[in-house]
Amino acid sequence: MDLGIAGKRALVCASSKGLGRGCAEALAGAGVDLVMNARSTGPLEEAARAIRAAYGVSVVTVAADITTEAGRAEVLAAAGDVDILVTNAGGPPPGIWSDWNRDDFIKALDANMLTPIALMTALLPAMMDKGWGRVVNITSQSVKAPIAALGLSNAARTGLTGYVAGTSRQVAPSGVTINNLLPGIHATDRAVSLDAGVADAQGISMDQAKANRAATIPARRYGTAQEFGATCAFLCSQHAGFIVGQNILLDGGATNATI
Ligand code: NAP
Repeated sequence: MDLGIAGKRALVCASSKGLGRGCAEALAGAGVDLVMNARSTGPLEEAARAIRAAYGVSVVTVAADITTEAGRAEVLAAAGDVDILVTNAGGPPPGIWSDWNRDDFIKALDANMLTPIALMTALLPAMMDKGWGRVVNITSQSVKAPIAALGLSNAARTGLTGYVAGTSRQVAPSGVTINNLLPGIHATDRAVSLDAGVADAQGISMDQAKANRAATIPARRYGTAQEFGATCAFLCSQHAGFIVGQNILLDGGATNATI
């Protein structure tokens, strides 16, 4: 399917690896020029080189922490006006409810709620002026059904979800859509670190931890960054202009809910 977005320009945050990289690759595959970001220069430059070579699109890289004001300023200066924004950052650490103090919550809110909001605040006006724009926020399955060990994520991402529900309806008249993608478990470095935590806590091997988790998922496997990226690219396409303010679960059926 022709997504109809060749020649558009996208900022994809936290995209040297994992789900962000999957989104960057899928957008590049649709002919979209990219601004890519991550904190470490090496993997970011490697990803950019691979994407330029594979898809022939232009890729600008900005090594910066997207969760800091200085990092965002650097990224936004390099990005200029973009047609597409994909927000992403690392997730908060696991624990239990009694572990976290105010500073932990402020950090999680900064990274997973206030950062995407700041990026949208900066980039939505130009999209609205042009009469076309797409925003996809990478959030989590934890928005639909809380994950006990990820209380910081449950809290921060639900706040972002409420903001998007209201804001998406205000910018839709200008041809701009905002939607959230909610990953369940996907085979990325993040999953490796979550499984390592389980293996450690239960005294089992990584393979066993992974197999145990996969057995709880109706699809009986982890998702891939490629299929996640393809969904993101579709939401950014010309065909998705009537999808507004939605929260789309990609979890292999793990969340047991009717809607
Ligand atoms: P990942 O494989 O660990 O990749 C994270 C990417 O983000 C890397 O490119 C990393 O590069 C970059 N990054 C992290 N923090 C950053 C920051 N502060 N500023 C700029 N770049 C940053 O993670 P993932 O699995 O793709 O997860 C992406 C998001 O989805 C996370 O918020 C995660 O919690 C959420 N999620 C993931 C899953 C899953 O199963 N994978 C499930 C639910 C939710 P640098 O380290 O070089 O910065």
